[in-house]
Amino acid sequence: MTPNSPLWGIDLGGTKVEGVIMDPQIPTMPLHRLRRDTGAVNGYGHILSQIIAVVCDLEAASGLSHPTRIGIGTPGVVDPAKGSLKNSNTTCLNGRPLRDDLAGALNCDFVMANDANCFALAEALCGAGCHSDVVLGLILGTGVGSGIVINRQVLNGHHGIAGEWGHNPLCGESRLCYCGRKGCIETVIAGPSLERYYHENGGDKVSLPQIVLRSDAGESLATQTLELLRAKFAEAIAAVINILDPDVIVVGGGVGNIPLLYEEATREAILRHLFNPEMTTRLVPPQLGDSAGVFGAALLTA
Ligand SMILES: [Zn+2]
Repeated sequence: MTPNSPLWGIDLGGTKVEGVIMDPQIPTMPLHRLRRDTGAVNGYGHILSQIIAVVCDLEAASGLSHPTRIGIGTPGVVDPAKGSLKNSNTTCLNGRPLRDDLAGALNCDFVMANDANCFALAEALCGAGCHSDVVLGLILGTGVGSGIVINRQVLNGHHGIAGEWGHNPLCGESRLCYCGRKGCIETVIAGPSLERYYHENGGDKVSLPQIVLRSDAGESLATQTLELLRAKFAEAIAAVINILDPDVIVVGGGVGNIPLLYEEATREAILRHLFNPEMTTRLVPPQLGDSAGVFGAALLTA
């Protein structure tokens, strides 16, 4: 591959398989982009065939020759040695040799990373973290995770779990997490956890965006719920900053849409837990929207 060769990427999601061909010189303007349904209920073999079909669709649409390397973003955690998945909520993928099966079927190399890492890579290279050396891309939504990009490279880690801060314990918390541990950050500040807090304290069963609207309208329980988010997010992310000390933190996922996270009061709350007299880390929303996953997958091959 030359530096100007087109970059091929696949974003494997629970409901769709999206494919892209990108010009490395203008990565935010894809040359071709298309999708098919994942059809996860039909099992592993069907998912494989859908990914292969998307690559064939891209070849037909572009007229380009067969790629030698394709990046793929997946749900769950990628085992770096085996190229298989673990902890994926598309459970039929867990433990299967996805990377090797695709490489064999399509006769090309596959570079694999989880969706949080792809999000972080895209935002680091051509989004909100552009021109920064150390970028932490948070996923703060139905789950809590992140990807770490250092000098334009994703940090996978020895077990492939680098950035999984959502399953660190929070002081004083004890609720059982799906992972089998208690008091994980995810059990407190993920979107469903905040909705549950609101409901358990006497509120209606409503979505987080509704809670934000109610807080804006002056409802005290809604505001209390968002202040819990501020306080616990601050405590949780300060521990990550103490270890990684990133230049910028990009906050993706539905919870990342809440303006409160970017207020000065949140920075002050983080600073109270930080091993530093000031907090100058940039804390910003993403710029690439739902394109980050598939762009990041293609950028894995750059
Ligand atoms: Zn957990």
